[in-house]
Amino acid sequence: MGVFGIEYGEIAKLLIGGQLTFKEGKIELLGEGVTFVPLTDHIAEIKYYENMNAENGIYIGAKYTGLTWNEKMLTKYKTKTPREIFEWGNKVMNLAGYGEFKVYKENKDRTEWIWRIYNSQIAEAYLKKYGKAKWPVCHRVRGYFAGAASFVARVDLDAVEVKCKAKGDSYCEFVIKKNKKFNIATTLVKKQLKDIGQESYARE
Ligand SMILES: [Zn+2]
Repeated sequence: MGVFGIEYGEIAKLLIGGQLTFKEGKIELLGEGVTFVPLTDHIAEIKYYENMNAENGIYIGAKYTGLTWNEKMLTKYKTKTPREIFEWGNKVMNLAGYGEFKVYKENKDRTEWIWRIYNSQIAEAYLKKYGKAKWPVCHRVRGYFAGAASFVARVDLDAVEVKCKAKGDSYCEFVIKKNKKFNIATTLVKKQLKDIGQESYARE
């Protein structure tokens, strides 16, 4: 068990409470259909998209999930406060094998954040298979974070991964804020946010 992480007892609780079910080839976590995807799939997918300069495809899909997952959690589990949302978020990220999630910094109105993932298995697997990455690789997590943060802030936010274990950093770090607040002139931002609509997920 990690510092912020899920205890194995939590999995037992989810199983007993029927929140994690395995039935007739289907897996549901908190009422949502999920699958186990091996790391080899993840990194082959990232490499393929990188070669096409299209990693944002992964980000856009995951951002939608980050938002809609939280909307469903609110309805089903009444996760209203950011604290509740982050507690559940950390459990789900741990359970799904994405790593240990931590909110590192936030501004007052929760529209600018720094979130981290420690022990990203995907980044570690990428590093092992392909060597040091030139650019961050955790586009799926980046998308989940952008969607979840947009949900908390009630305004459309985007995420840029600025540190990544696949690049040799000791953890992955994500800057989350309004799209127009990023400096699109920098190559990192340009790569990660190109073709992203500014208000595509606006809630109000
Ligand atoms: Zn990363």
